[in-house]
Amino acid sequence: MELYDTTLRDGSQKEGVSFSVVDKLKITQRLDELGIDYIEGGWPGSNPKDAEFFERAKDLTLSHAQVAVFGSTRRPRTQAETDGNLVMLADAGVSVATIVGKSSDRQVIQVLETGLDENLSMIADSVHYLRDQGLTVFFDAEHFFDGFKSNADYALRCLAVAAEAGVACLVLCDTNGGALPDEVARAVEAAAKVTAVTLGIHAHNDSGVAVANTLAAVGAGASHVQGTINGYGERCGNADLCSLIPNLKLKMGIDCVTDDQLGRLTEASRFVSEAANLSPDASLPYVGLSAFSHKAGYHVAGLAKWPDAYQHVDPALVGGQLNVVVSELSGKRNIIYKARERGLDLPEQGEEARRLVEQVKTLESRGFQYDNAEASFDLLVHRAKPGYEPPFELVDFMVVIERRRRSPTEEGREETLAEAMVKVRVGSEIMHTVAEGNGPVNALDQALRKALLQSYPSLAAVKLVDYKVRILEESTGTESQVRVLIESSDGTDDWRTVGSSTDIIEASWLALADSLEHWLLKHAGK
Ligand SMILES: [Zn+2]
Repeated sequence: MELYDTTLRDGSQKEGVSFSVVDKLKITQRLDELGIDYIEGGWPGSNPKDAEFFERAKDLTLSHAQVAVFGSTRRPRTQAETDGNLVMLADAGVSVATIVGKSSDRQVIQVLETGLDENLSMIADSVHYLRDQGLTVFFDAEHFFDGFKSNADYALRCLAVAAEAGVACLVLCDTNGGALPDEVARAVEAAAKVTAVTLGIHAHNDSGVAVANTLAAVGAGASHVQGTINGYGERCGNADLCSLIPNLKLKMGIDCVTDDQLGRLTEASRFVSEAANLSPDASLPYVGLSAFSHKAGYHVAGLAKWPDAYQHVDPALVGGQLNVVVSELSGKRNIIYKARERGLDLPEQGEEARRLVEQVKTLESRGFQYDNAEASFDLLVHRAKPGYEPPFELVDFMVVIERRRRSPTEEGREETLAEAMVKVRVGSEIMHTVAEGNGPVNALDQALRKALLQSYPSLAAVKLVDYKVRILEESTGTESQVRVLIESSDGTDDWRTVGSSTDIIEASWLALADSLEHWLLKHAGK
């Protein structure tokens, strides 16, 4: 079974999602660790960001996955050799190209406005050209299931032509997401009769059955499945790999990833939603926060007697955990469990754990979230310990933002200048520093470092590598709660911290201060 991910291409079509090149590279790394066979990086002909991705992806060290480039067949009545898009695919520096072409007669005539034979030539020429350039070619048969309904002979003819031209996989696409599982199974069976080439499935979720359609295709003989992490995609999304992978492995007995890789699924799902700057969807099967949650009551009583009484699989298999909502006791157990996982000792009995549970609850209600901010969680554990001495303490800070014209003649060319004043206590000393920055957060960061570097010169190694802001209650306008997630690195380790407030600068400050405090705890002998 081949797993083909298109989060970076089709997934990024979801409204509101825009991955940076760095995000795309990091996601590629994660997908490789997850055991994905092919990772579609994007369409270099469609935007410069995708072109840059392929340039930088050459430096990635992947243990298993191959990066694929995406494009379409040549335009009607042109030569493949001189088609700019095809040439770009050949030049992308990867060995797999996926090209989309039409396989529905109506689409050819009404949308492409060309002849049915010309479309067949477009498919054949494009595949030949890419094969001549040494590429493995996958053919995405666009609108295959609709085409199969309106003119089955022609839809199958498109597949046969691509197969003859030498594609390694024929990917049957439910582009509009309108098919149902039984139709999909029948069409896949028909395709398997006309070709021996590997059949793939690419399903959209407009009828709410993208995962079901994919599994139906597999049941009918497809052995290459395409999807996206969290089902991200245009309109109602694509088939969700986070459902498909465990369904294939745990329910259908198809060993598409190792046990260890399956165990990273939940983490990968959260990672991609974080990179997309979207709240994780709690109700996603297998990987959502609620997938294995139980409210107190007779379910919990049943679970205590027999863990599988109210769950379809063991959550640990996909890297999740059983989650008992509401119950105070389980909250404490979870926190002790999480602290141990992070290598921090927390006695089961006594005040410490109880205080920590209370604090986590209060902070979570104020918008903090620790799933993706393990360094801030560690700090909470430390701070709950009696006698904890922080490496520094904030006394106060002030930020001034000014917009000024560079010169009287440069009208309209204003620049933002920010200046931050920070007072922190280190030991018994109060440090008072001022720094400028290109924005308020940058200025705060500079001022705080200036204050701390005098006592902790090694802190210079710490860099802020990512900064994300999320508005938590979009409807309430400027009063809304803001969550800031910061990722820092010292070149060896990276760690994430969180801050939350109604004020973006305060939220940033909290995340920033946590980041430096976390590093100092580990490295400054405190
Ligand atoms: Zn698609």
